[in-house]
Amino acid sequence: MNKSNFMEVTFKAISENESFARVCVAAFCVGLNPSLDEIGDIKTAVSEAVTNCIVHAYPKHSGIVMLRCEIDDNIVKIIVKDNGIGIKDIVKAREPFYTTKPSEERSGMGFAVMESFMDSVEIESKNGLTVTMTKKIGENVYMQAGNA
Ligand code: ATP
Ligand code: MG
Repeated sequence: MNKSNFMEVTFKAISENESFARVCVAAFCVGLNPSLDEIGDIKTAVSEAVTNCIVHAYPKHSGIVMLRCEIDDNIVKIIVKDNGIGIKDIVKAREPFYTTKPSEERSGMGFAVMESFMDSVEIESKNGLTVTMTKKIGENVYMQAGNA
């Protein structure tokens, strides 16, 4: 049977809400029986995307983060969106070690981390930034069983 589900949550773009977002997505995905590695990967990617909204999107005023999570069969799609300043050069922003905030101890690795932990990462800059990530759950079940 095809499993399909979604959830949406909107919260203030403040650092206190980064862990909330991470745990929220993890709890939503539990029904897919993800491995600890898979859930760890998803939490890390969500953390990077949400932290970016908090740190970069609203330099002059406070704002919000919209988080949507969709499950379709064994594929998880996560959409993290803000209404902030967006990114002019997305290709450059995706490069490892590229950051506009070196003085604040940013390493410019957020998008690289998202790319390495998820199957796909799309970035759109239009009325703010929208990051859409997908991951197939249960891909390595055979391998994990073999390693047990
Ligand atoms: P790190 O994630 O390692 O702490 P970082 O946030 O600078 O550092 P990335 O997450 O890779 O690195 O983001 C690269 C750059 O893209 C940022 O420095 C910032 O200029 C821009 N950026 C990322 N997310 C947003 C966003 N939501 N709104 C506006 N600009 C963003
Ligand atoms: Mg970042």
